[in-house]
Amino acid sequence: MVVCKFGGSSVADSAQIRKVSRILTDDDSRTVAVVSAPGKRTDDDIKITDMLYTCQKEAAAGIDFSERYSRIRERYLTIAADLQLETEALALEIDEIEQRILHGSGPDYAASRGEYLSAKVIAQFMGWEFLDTEHLIILNSDGTVADRSYALLADALATKEQCILPGFYGTGPNGEVKTFSRGGSDITGAIAARSMGASLYENWTDVSGLRMADPRVIKDPEVVHELTYQEIRELASIGASVFHEEAIAPVRSAEIPICIKNTNDPDDIGTLIVPDRIDREQPVVGISGKTGYYRLYVKKHLLGKETDYILKLSTLLKVHGIIPEFSSIGFDSLSYYFKRDLLCCKQQLLERIKTEMNPEELEMEEQVAMIGVVGKGLYDAKGVLSTLSSSLSDAAIPIRYINYGGSLITCIIGVDDSSYVQALQVMYDAITS
Ligand code: ASP
Repeated sequence: MVVCKFGGSSVADSAQIRKVSRILTDDDSRTVAVVSAPGKRTDDDIKITDMLYTCQKEAAAGIDFSERYSRIRERYLTIAADLQLETEALALEIDEIEQRILHGSGPDYAASRGEYLSAKVIAQFMGWEFLDTEHLIILNSDGTVADRSYALLADALATKEQCILPGFYGTGPNGEVKTFSRGGSDITGAIAARSMGASLYENWTDVSGLRMADPRVIKDPEVVHELTYQEIRELASIGASVFHEEAIAPVRSAEIPICIKNTNDPDDIGTLIVPDRIDREQPVVGISGKTGYYRLYVKKHLLGKETDYILKLSTLLKVHGIIPEFSSIGFDSLSYYFKRDLLCCKQQLLERIKTEMNPEELEMEEQVAMIGVVGKGLYDAKGVLSTLSSSLSDAAIPIRYINYGGSLITCIIGVDDSSYVQALQVMYDAITS
């Protein structure tokens, strides 16, 4: 069986919900669907989840939120009426939720109602059962999913034929509704897929799969049709906003593939995320980056051999909340790269390093950009790495940092922040030509 998850844009209005219904009924193996709250219909629209958070904030501050809430009510009632559904019971529930927000319910409760109402409406339209995930997905105090959730959900789903589940929330350690972080319906979908031992987790959204680069920076980048769990995690860690990171773990351990598909174009192949792949066809799957790194440079005779020195320096950085993301350590010097708002403590940190570590040279530069090229075949395919570096040198972009070894599937190249966009473009061109 296949578990599907539909994101906010896929359930933004009745026309979108009709598409969801067609997708679900088109294939008998799609028997469980997790849905988000209605998202934006146009660029300047507001997501239901955002409106619910604002209503709760206003209620807590004693501000009248009834006008804003009436827009939420209107949105659901219009969807239901357009789908020719009975709206009386829905209107009552919406009013009850308003009362609870007015009388002090917290942000988790308020935000979770977006998914709750969405799932109710869609279940009613499809004639499928609605299954509330509140007491089935249990969150630990650190926000992780308690293992018993899988069995609870599996038991509840075992007796149902076709079911719609609200995404984004479960129960927290205090027994109250607790939401995941934003975009967390992806996690609910992954939990449901693992609970059911699904053969596939389909994640339906408004794009036809993952792009090889950020389309806001690179014009019309290619879609990647297949990549591994590890490749997607590495891409996310270097800045690609791809798929909710925490949603990979539940399906990864059960080796359930994830397929990212487009609700508006269901016939497009999309992107398949798999445990492993043959990399000969496509050695590189993506490129992404982040700007604004600091580089801390410390020089001291034979520093590379003095583990105590490095340990002491790391502890000093940690005290200032700094954990380097990248580093390079030589005989007499090291560079650490990190992203952190240092406005208030930069001078104080440098003073402490000077007095406590007695370096021969000390520098802190801002604004290095790190670009990661990810792909299982990166090191085996001939010439990819040399093509990357010559593309930069042809464009007269100096390489400030290079790391080939941290992970065998990622190469990190540092350039000046000011060259970031150009560097990304020439590197993208180099790997796709
Ligand atoms: N509705 C929630 C959000 O906007 C969760 C989700 O859509 O996945 O973050």
